[in-house]
Amino acid sequence: MKIFKGNIVHTPTKDTFEIFENQYIFVSEDGLVQEIRKELPQGMEQEVIDYTDKLLIPAYTDLHLHPFQYPLIGNGYDRELLEWCYRYCAPAEMLSAEEATERKVCQAVIHDLWKYGSLHSVHFPTVSEHNVDTLMQMLDESGMFAYVGKSQDDLALFAENADETTEESMQAALRLAGKYKDSRRVRYIFTVGWSLDASDDLMRQIHDAALMYQAPFQAHLDENRTEIKWILERHPECRNYAETYEKCGVFGKEVKTVMEHCIHTTEEEIAMMRDNGVYVAHCIHSNLDIMSGIMQLRRYIDEGIRVGIGSDISAGHTLNLTDCMRAAVQASKMLAVRTGKLPVSMEEVFYLATKGGGSFFGKVGSFEPGYQFDALVIDDSSLSLPIQYTIKERMERYLYCGDDRQIIARYVLGEEIREPAYIA
Ligand code: FE
Repeated sequence: MKIFKGNIVHTPTKDTFEIFENQYIFVSEDGLVQEIRKELPQGMEQEVIDYTDKLLIPAYTDLHLHPFQYPLIGNGYDRELLEWCYRYCAPAEMLSAEEATERKVCQAVIHDLWKYGSLHSVHFPTVSEHNVDTLMQMLDESGMFAYVGKSQDDLALFAENADETTEESMQAALRLAGKYKDSRRVRYIFTVGWSLDASDDLMRQIHDAALMYQAPFQAHLDENRTEIKWILERHPECRNYAETYEKCGVFGKEVKTVMEHCIHTTEEEIAMMRDNGVYVAHCIHSNLDIMSGIMQLRRYIDEGIRVGIGSDISAGHTLNLTDCMRAAVQASKMLAVRTGKLPVSMEEVFYLATKGGGSFFGKVGSFEPGYQFDALVIDDSSLSLPIQYTIKERMERYLYCGDDRQIIARYVLGEEIREPAYIA
């Protein structure tokens, strides 16, 4: 057993921080939270890992990122999604996916996920089986938790020919799903960019494979108006974009699904997302950077839709999830000015970045008993003037003004995760 001491802050429910001022958190041998106590039991001689006066918060989950786009970060944002993909993203991704560069790109991404405290992450790499395998191995070595999936595209979108046949695509995906089926920390997620470059036949086979391996599914949904027009032109039989996935069995229900963006959803699609238990990855920086729009976060939370926060690098300009959180609050405030409805609060967005997105992985993102002890230790002394602040005020200030410089330690399942050596 391990015992940590500090100002423990988490959000078991979305509306308020639950705060335990300089208290003790007991963690079992297998890294799960047992209980939080005000005092140590009398006569207990167990050593305490002492972070007195520091903030102890759950580690973050980055619910959507494209690792092999990392070298492109910050570039080409004067274009909207489809032109950005064609002109910038596809060539950059091809370069970083080459075997000579793939490890360097993976190193940078893994290092920066660690740096910003996103110790759980959902990756959307390239069509290359080699890239995915390399990334999965390196993530596994890092000690962090992740889902990674090979992009499957058997239809040509920007190129003359498709990258792979349906059969080749499934064979590669099944090899990866099989190879990592018993892995605890790094697991496979079936992955399609959008229903523009994956056939119905492919997505139906993915549904069957996802059930067989108990693996989830990820894809993009309703990100950009031109994208939606193209989708509906390709699928005239569907009422909406979501149905292009649902008719193939890859839109929640028996296959755990995360849909990225979900900005221009119809009323029908919102009901489908709610009823099918679909997760939404809210990627606000990306949505602003390439002018896709602002998702109705308040509405989704009120509807009970499962939402997490994604950086969506490299249409989003940073892996810093704290920065994504404050941008999500700011964007919600701007929507509220227009609609007259309430914006989301920082507590709610912190919940999404921890327990909300974390639930995609299981009992993750909270310090309730039975949850993984995955934690960040925050020394926020550099952010405060020498007067007395409440813990709540310190949390708010950290989330608005802080960054990785205040994170002094990171834990997964009770074990400290040190800075990945290849960058240090
Ligand atoms: Fe994306």
